[in-house]
Amino acid sequence: MTVYKAPQRDMKFVMDELLDMQSHYASLPGCEDASVEIVDAIREEAAKITTNVIAPLNQIGDQKGCVWSEEGVKSPPGFKQAYAQFREAGWTALIQDPEFGGQGLPPSVGNMVTEMVTSANLSWATYTGALGGAIETLHAWGTDEQKNTYMPKMVAGNWGGTMCLTEPHCGTDLGLLRTKAEPQDDGSYNLSGTKIFITQGEHDVADNIIHIVIARVTGAPAGTAGISLFIVPKFLPDANGELGERNTVSCGAIEHKMGLHGSPTCVMNFDGAKGFLIGPENKGLQCMFTFMNNARLGCAVQGFGHADVGLQQSLAYAKDRLQMRALTGPKNPELMADPIIVHPDVRRMLLTQKSIAEGGRMFTYDIAKMLDVVQCSPDPEARAEMDDLLGLLTPIAKGFLTEVGLESANLAVQCFGGHGYIKEWGVEQNVRDARIGCIYEGTTGIQALDLIGRKILGNKGAHLNTYIKTMSAFCEANQENPVVAEFVSELAKHIKEWGELTMQIGGAAMNKPDEMGAASVDFLMYSGYVVLAYYWAQAAVVADKALQAGTTEEDFYKAKITTTKFYFQRLLPKTRGYVATMTTGADNLMELDAEHFVF
Ligand SMILES: Cc1cc2nc3c(=O)[nH]c(=O)nc-3n(C[C@H](O)[C@H](O)[C@H](O)COP(=O)(O)OP(=O)(O)OC[C@H]3O[C@@H](n4cnc5c(N)ncnc54)[C@H](O)[C@@H]3O)c2cc1C
Repeated sequence: MTVYKAPQRDMKFVMDELLDMQSHYASLPGCEDASVEIVDAIREEAAKITTNVIAPLNQIGDQKGCVWSEEGVKSPPGFKQAYAQFREAGWTALIQDPEFGGQGLPPSVGNMVTEMVTSANLSWATYTGALGGAIETLHAWGTDEQKNTYMPKMVAGNWGGTMCLTEPHCGTDLGLLRTKAEPQDDGSYNLSGTKIFITQGEHDVADNIIHIVIARVTGAPAGTAGISLFIVPKFLPDANGELGERNTVSCGAIEHKMGLHGSPTCVMNFDGAKGFLIGPENKGLQCMFTFMNNARLGCAVQGFGHADVGLQQSLAYAKDRLQMRALTGPKNPELMADPIIVHPDVRRMLLTQKSIAEGGRMFTYDIAKMLDVVQCSPDPEARAEMDDLLGLLTPIAKGFLTEVGLESANLAVQCFGGHGYIKEWGVEQNVRDARIGCIYEGTTGIQALDLIGRKILGNKGAHLNTYIKTMSAFCEANQENPVVAEFVSELAKHIKEWGELTMQIGGAAMNKPDEMGAASVDFLMYSGYVVLAYYWAQAAVVADKALQAGTTEEDFYKAKITTTKFYFQRLLPKTRGYVATMTTGADNLMELDAEHFVF
């Protein structure tokens, strides 16, 4: 019994009050249409379709899964119809370029809708998520002819999209890729090879599927320097741009997985399939990053979404389920027992989920706001500054929020006790579905290496320092406010420590490269807890202002301040453990020879 209700009040708090998206939209050319009324209307409509149409398919998708046959892959019952309804209502076009049939709204509006879709039903969301990334890649790197051929159909949602990177022997290390692309006289390429784990590689919800594939052109250098990017359509467009000849790309099988059963994870065989180069030859990996960054933000949203879904279910259950009496004496003497929400440990689990769900929303919505600037600002300096910040924050958001999202989903099961472990309530599905977030689009380990290596040490800490300055300015501005003083002083200590830890790890890694890898995941988790603290402190400032000004929603704003207190007193101290472990060095990991792990 899965129930999802879009948390509209909190979305509005983040968009309107915390991030002041109205001034932001008004200041960006092309974003002015996103008025409060328009964004409210979009949110309300998205809440309706996600709650009433998409969420009810979540459990059936898990139970029935996708079915492979020689003819193709059948999506779970109801998925195709819901997709048609979503497409016909224009949701796939929401943030796309009007030149290709899109509605031209800013990425941050799309991000808000993505939250609702992924939280309602992650498996279903992968049908539109893969499409969005493929559109963005084509838009960034396609020729005019390619854009005109593919984008209108994709923007309208009639044609789907995929990202084909992984091969059986090559996942993280894409330089090992073997799929070949042989140049043809007509300027196209024939692609041969096998890709695995391809989300939406084959399905029945769209008329055509446009695969975005990495492959190595004949004679190209080995490693990542020889990777190029291609469009490989399932059906080749005919002279009128309509469905033409069937291409020689096919789905050999689908995987049977721990979760995400409603999303087909396909083995794709390219048997001399016709493909078309996108972007410069041998620069495929750089082009593919357009897709990957989009997907990584999507994973971060997915991460806190699992916390939100788990919270919604476990909170309702905790108010209803009667077990034992409160330690302070009966709270409901007329009943046989008190609801479990009276117990401190149940509250710990609920407040942890709330902190991650609402904290993750603030963090990722702010990232989406930065994306608006990168995409729409006419000022190259502002674009470059935001791009650097996005580069720094994306691995933190992806790595940290998927890890704590999974932890939160587990806590929801714990709130349900044995009833969480059985399938009836759907909270165990949330854990199984959440597990993949820490793996695809680059594992947590890879996000951590990207963060400390490329995004921090790679620019000698310049981008981190800029961010630290912004955070420090916030702390200084609010240190006299009695409601938040204790939070900002703790945050300020962490910010200083963040810079020091970076220097320490960077210094150690200069002499011994393993030091960076050994510290990396602890450093990523540390960074995530500090960043979330920054957002919770901001939430408390905004809530305090609202309370000072007088409000009819006292409970809502007081809960923000109470949750900030919980976060600072019970979650932020987890950084102490990460500091202790990340500074122990690499020897305790590397001493044991691989052959002596087991005797
Ligand atoms: C459900 C699902 C959907 C997917 N969808 C897609 C898709 O649409 N398109 C696509 O192309 N791929 C897709 N993938 C593949 C996914 O992106 C990869 O599984 C992932 O990138 C990891 O690669 P791998 O499985 O080969 O693991 P490996 O690369 O073999 O890694 C195994 C372990 O080693 C660690 N490791 C590897 N190298 C390092 C290093 N240098 N330092 C530290 N640790 C390291 C990893 O962190 C991991 O823990 C999907 C996978 C699944 C399961």
